[in-house]
Amino acid sequence: MAQLIDGKAIAADIRLDLKSKVEQHLASGARPPALSVVLVGDDPASGIYVNFKEKACKQIGMKTETHRLPKETSESELVSLIDQLNNDPEVDGILVQLPLPKQIDKLRIIGRISPIKDVDGLGAKNQGLLSLGLAGHRPCTPLGVMKLLETTGIDLSGKQAAVIGRSILVGSPMVRLLGHANATVTNIHSRTTNARALAREADIIVAAAGVPELVKKDWVKPEAVLIDVGIHRNEGGKLVGDLAFDEVEPIASHITPVPGGVGPMTIAMLLSNCIQAYEWRITGDHPYLVY
Ligand code: ADP
Repeated sequence: MAQLIDGKAIAADIRLDLKSKVEQHLASGARPPALSVVLVGDDPASGIYVNFKEKACKQIGMKTETHRLPKETSESELVSLIDQLNNDPEVDGILVQLPLPKQIDKLRIIGRISPIKDVDGLGAKNQGLLSLGLAGHRPCTPLGVMKLLETTGIDLSGKQAAVIGRSILVGSPMVRLLGHANATVTNIHSRTTNARALAREADIIVAAAGVPELVKKDWVKPEAVLIDVGIHRNEGGKLVGDLAFDEVEPIASHITPVPGGVGPMTIAMLLSNCIQAYEWRITGDHPYLVY
């Protein structure tokens, strides 16, 4: 039986710490940290995520506003909004909810966000700082995974890790974060021919392929630590991840549930990045001045 990694409880603790940080700032007479969210189109899942993010901000005493734009919005209109938010001294973080409609180049939009306000950590500047191992905003989901791994107390140094998926949002930054923690990382992706054999060598598997129940029992080395980034609804209406939970759980040492594992951590890390952006701005001392 694996030990369950309770992302919901760990995220709740982090949010409490962030809340008291905000309270201290307010008590010193400062304005609250503020996040601007941009939502283009009417994708229902995106709408739900944005509502979660707004609620989480308010719960810790942050300010938040959501700009809701129609799905026909042009790239140049969106660029203008980003510029306006970049120049607004009352905005600390800017988050553009993905996916964006087809007529918009998502990397151009993300790249337009001022790096200090890029609290999703997805822009070239922040991904570059991550590659170099320098301070900067880290993408929220992989950062949340690192915090979960920290709570297990397992030393990653010298361990074999397999990251399944190489998106800019999760897989690629995950590879770098694990590498900086001195793990030896294998990146499995859609063109990998021997995924199962490679995964089976890993002491830690991070599954972020977006494929329901991809990772079966014979992909997992006994006593491995398993982190599930996927979330899908199966035909029975049940939420499942990228791990075939029931088969892999008995042989793992630690495992994240779906839901209640990585998901709550992603939001907690977004809040954490927002507070970091705010503190960097009010102190005027931040990595973007240096690198
Ligand atoms: P996420 O947002 O979780 O990163 P994406 O859908 O953006 O998900 O990316 C999925 C990633 O998973 C891609 O990098 C792709 O190469 C990888 N992937 C997809 N299918 C498989 C598979 N069957 N085996 C291994 N990797 C896969």
